[in-house]
Amino acid sequence: MTVNRQRIREWVLIVSMVLFPITFYYLSPYLIVLGASEGIVSGSFLLFSLLFFSSFVLGRIWCAWLCPGAEVQELCHRVRKKGAKGGKLDLIKLGPWTVWVVVIIALFIRSGGISTVQPLYQTWHGISILAAGAVFVLAGVLLLISGLSLAFGRRGFCHYGCWMAPFMIVGGKLRDLLRFPHLRLRSDKEKCIHCKACSRNCPMSLDVEGMVSKGKMDHSECINCGTCIDVCPKGVIRYGFGGP
Ligand code: SF4
Ligand code: SF4
Repeated sequence: MTVNRQRIREWVLIVSMVLFPITFYYLSPYLIVLGASEGIVSGSFLLFSLLFFSSFVLGRIWCAWLCPGAEVQELCHRVRKKGAKGGKLDLIKLGPWTVWVVVIIALFIRSGGISTVQPLYQTWHGISILAAGAVFVLAGVLLLISGLSLAFGRRGFCHYGCWMAPFMIVGGKLRDLLRFPHLRLRSDKEKCIHCKACSRNCPMSLDVEGMVSKGKMDHSECINCGTCIDVCPKGVIRYGFGGP
């Protein structure tokens, strides 16, 4: 049953990747800016808002189970078998993200606030790839996602370049501040035999064994994929639901 969980996750990610040419405008960091300059709430505005609020309950589950860029990076990992460094370097993505969010807010203010909500904004009847010039945008996005993964290791784009992850990271911090109960990992460190299978298999290259030893399972880069749960020979880690 546990192996099936990761199989299901992989298949969901493959479907999401195949649908990427249709959906990528809903994840666009540019269309949200363009929309804001005209007072329009675009599809990407709605999706990013959903990610922010979903993180209150589900953490970064989007990154593990639904993001189309995830499977692109897993394919890169088959070529480049290296984990990303992580640590403080993970903060890199928060700098440009903060500037970007400030620009979006400023543009909305300048355009007199929200005038209309258009989920299909700039797409061709909801299909991203059929909009003018979209093919080049998709090629650029795929190049960025795979380039960072190949250059910096597994899920390099998630670690250093993703503009969606910060919505969930910041949402998670706010959630913890408010002590909101949420989906999280729990562990029983007494049962751990320190084989490090969890750390070796973590797609975000986290020191999961160290997290278990310290009894501190919360990590802003944990995407709740459940891999560590499924590979642990002693059933040390499990999903739980609750506050900090
Ligand atoms: S896989 Fe399980 S037993 Fe092995 S180090 Fe991780 S938590 Fe401990
Ligand atoms: S710590 Fe476990 S659940 Fe979190 S990203 Fe790593 S393998 Fe997935």
